[in-house]
Amino acid sequence: MKTGAKDKLLKEELITVESESAAGGALRLEGVGYRYKPDSRPVLDEISFSLKPGEWVTIAGPSGCGKSTLARILAGDLPRAGGGLRTGEVMVNGIDPADAKIAETARTIGLVFQDPDAQLVMGRVEDEVAFGPENLCLPPEVIRRQVAAALEEAGLEERRRDSIAELSGGGRQRTAIASVLALETPILVLDEAASNLDAAGRRRLQELLQRLHRQGRTLLVVTGRLDELALAAPRLIVLDEDGHLVQDGPSDALLREERPLLRQLGLLPAEQRVRVTGGSPSMEP
Ligand code: ADP
Ligand code: MG
Repeated sequence: MKTGAKDKLLKEELITVESESAAGGALRLEGVGYRYKPDSRPVLDEISFSLKPGEWVTIAGPSGCGKSTLARILAGDLPRAGGGLRTGEVMVNGIDPADAKIAETARTIGLVFQDPDAQLVMGRVEDEVAFGPENLCLPPEVIRRQVAAALEEAGLEERRRDSIAELSGGGRQRTAIASVLALETPILVLDEAASNLDAAGRRRLQELLQRLHRQGRTLLVVTGRLDELALAAPRLIVLDEDGHLVQDGPSDALLREERPLLRQLGLLPAEQRVRVTGGSPSMEP
């Protein structure tokens, strides 16, 4: 190898190392499994994949395959031992979320739960959205800025003083999204976060994900059906009923080549064709 080429390679390696140790969001799972009880069957089985900072990935699988379990493991919501039992290695920005301090995890990874009511305290919208940043004791002007930006992104400015209890399912889901956005974490995990949104809400969420992707955030979108929003992610990871990872690749290629499997898992409607629209180009080094 010529010296010049070698230098360039070295430089590229340095850049990779730097970007992985910076504020960006990297994820790595190695042989991860989970049992809710020591004697029950594993929900996830030997799951391995990694995400580079700035990647946007959809994780799809049938109901009950362990998607929410996976999201909760990443967010440090499920311990390694205790009631349940986790195997394998999980690294979120180089730290196992099961070992990380709560505040550390809160600054790194934001999880929008499948059921917004599981994460909302039924106060006013703006108080809910401010709760996370206040809990991290950020300076008041930073809190104000982040809350205002999150309310705007979620289309909730008009409703900021409304009580959450008065909102529709879609409004509560948008509040849950805003409360996670307000933390401005490098990694965002959305667990079926569009399930209560109407067509306009889903379009808005897709545009929001496209903006966050351009900002270099790492996005993990969990879904039970491959609709336009799910397929906007450049990369698709597919789990089967037994919690095995069965596909991991470019969304458009998998949609072209694995249609029978995706149908069989109930991720695509029986015959209707689904169009892939855009998604920004993935950030390959
Ligand atoms: P998905 O999000 O893909 O629908 P989940 O991760 O919610 O799947 O659940 C995977 C499996 O784990 C299901 O069989 C579910 O019944 C079981 N499960 C989920 N939460 C618990 C729990 N807290 N205790 C025991 N079993 C659970
Ligand atoms: Mg789920």
